[in-house]
Amino acid sequence: MRHTRSNKGNVRSHHALGELRFSACSSCGKKHLPHTACENCGKYNGRVVLDVHSRIAKKDKKAKEKAKTESKQ
Ligand SMILES: [Zn+2]
Repeated sequence: MRHTRSNKGNVRSHHALGELRFSACSSCGKKHLPHTACENCGKYNGRVVLDVHSRIAKKDKKAKEKAKTESKQ
């Protein structure tokens, strides 16, 4: 069935995303997305699931390489 322009608008009026809700980390107290490991300490449900230190090292390495290539140009 044909969707008119106004009908399209009516349907899409309910498609807006709500505000993000966070839960507090039980070990470091930082906000993180629910059902997701904490980005700050890498823990989920009291268990370490993310290697935060290697992630930080990787990020630093990437930033350094980027700075190097930018300074060359
Ligand atoms: Zn945490």
